[in-house]
Amino acid sequence: MAKKYNFSAGPAILTAEVIKEAAEAVSNWQESGLSILEVSHRGPAFVAVLEEAMALTKELLSLPENYKVLFLTGGASSQFYMTAMNLLDSNGKAGYVDTGAWSKKAIKEANHFGPVQVLATSEDKNYSYVPKNYDIPTDISYLHLTSNNTIFGTEMHQLPDTSLPLVCDMSSNIFSRPIDIERYGLIYAGAQKNMGPAGTTLVIVNEDLLGKVDRKIPTMLDYSTHIKKDSSFNTPPVFPIFVSMLTMRWVKKMGGVEAMAKHNQEKAAIVYDEIDRNSLFKGAAAKEDRSLMNVTFVATQEGLDKDFLAACEAAGCVGLKGHRSVGGFRASIYNAMTIEGVKTLASVMQAFEKAKG
Ligand SMILES: *Cc1c(COP(=O)(O)O)cnc(C)c1O
Repeated sequence: MAKKYNFSAGPAILTAEVIKEAAEAVSNWQESGLSILEVSHRGPAFVAVLEEAMALTKELLSLPENYKVLFLTGGASSQFYMTAMNLLDSNGKAGYVDTGAWSKKAIKEANHFGPVQVLATSEDKNYSYVPKNYDIPTDISYLHLTSNNTIFGTEMHQLPDTSLPLVCDMSSNIFSRPIDIERYGLIYAGAQKNMGPAGTTLVIVNEDLLGKVDRKIPTMLDYSTHIKKDSSFNTPPVFPIFVSMLTMRWVKKMGGVEAMAKHNQEKAAIVYDEIDRNSLFKGAAAKEDRSLMNVTFVATQEGLDKDFLAACEAAGCVGLKGHRSVGGFRASIYNAMTIEGVKTLASVMQAFEKAKG
């Protein structure tokens, strides 16, 4: 069967070369006669993978020495509570910005550990924009943001004006562009959007922020445990870390996150230009807040959705059905999506307008 263009939101597209290397490692890793799926996480071959994954994360994002890189399990969803458990004192306070379903879940979980103040929300317009110019109190321990809203197709293109440490869910745009790392206290990202297969979560934490809460933290949920043990306190998710490492090698080979940003801007422009030109579609998010990773759009007439998805499918473009809370369509065009993929989608939209218009 011909290879499809995968526009799914997550688990999501991986580059063809990464999939090929991963497949080879599953059958016979480095000519060892063993599959990567059956090797010890404490053996030298996998320890080298883990070390390379950490080193590549540091290199790609230019991390200073006091920022530690962890590969954990439990998904980004576990970070919703782990961040607050480790960083929010019961007599402290945290600020959250509510930009969609994932932020809302982060807020709910943080509430278990201390007072949470929601500083701004875009719920009034179904999260179609990113709030700006809200007041940020100075007595909060950290400000939690979601840099890219996977479901609603908005992205934070500018950071709020504060010197407070930012805690940021970057699940769907990690490694898609350079970041100003010094602004962040902690970053987390589930692998399955822009980094690898499901099963590991990248956490980058400024060590200086840890050890300041008075509560007892279970060993497995304490970032310090995983820092001390280089993410191998217990068995780490060997295969997802391996494939994430392969993806980081690919990002580096392509020119790093600066090159990714350029590539992503180019791809997003192709899709958004077609949405804005085409009379049958309109964008779902405010223009200035449009995501370069998840392009959300809807039909301008009733009853077109099924036919459009079928036309996409016929051209090999899959995973375009929008999330139920927005409806319509969502084209997830992460790092691994090619220009050819987005051009194919744009041409399906053009042909659809001709056929229906
Ligand atoms: C997918 C996603 C999550 C949830 O990730 P899991 O790994 O499934 O827990 C959290 N935040 C954002 C922004 C996401 O896109």
